[in-house]
Amino acid sequence: MTRPDLCLDFANTRYWRGQATPTETLHAPADLAAWAKAARPPSAREFEQAIGLREMLYRLFDAQAQGKPPAPRDLEALNQALAQAPGRRALKRNRAGYEWDVDARPGTALGLLAPVLWSAGDLLAGPRLDRVRRCANPECGWLFLDDSRAGKRRWCSMSACGNRAKARRHYHKSKE
Ligand SMILES: [Zn+2]
Repeated sequence: MTRPDLCLDFANTRYWRGQATPTETLHAPADLAAWAKAARPPSAREFEQAIGLREMLYRLFDAQAQGKPPAPRDLEALNQALAQAPGRRALKRNRAGYEWDVDARPGTALGLLAPVLWSAGDLLAGPRLDRVRRCANPECGWLFLDDSRAGKRRWCSMSACGNRAKARRHYHKSKE
């Protein structure tokens, strides 16, 4: 099964976005191929396009997480990519159940990223859109889907930002 927040995973391949030097995990076409479990890497030009799509997805969902409307050009870019990506036409069986059969044109950004684009469309048009969050640590900027029952999750994960924030509060308190 394709994870519903695959698009957020992809947006998070660049993180610590609030810091002067964010952490980049996709430096070269081979990194993208590894992330997408693709047999061969895209061309340099296709890689650039993929990074452009990633940044567009980040801006779209970041705006959503902040309760702001998307920039019209970002929605337009997503629609354009969806229109040009391989179609979601057939299912195939896998060990866990079913998955969409991607008719990926090898080496193209839109072929590699078709499931990411579909997940973005499903998330935007689906019932969990209001559960898209950005980590409350301004230096972090990690996007996630809040699956908690109360819907009040604020941190990407307690072991990273949550605990760091708690430690900082504790530190300030003990200084006072
Ligand atoms: Zn975080």
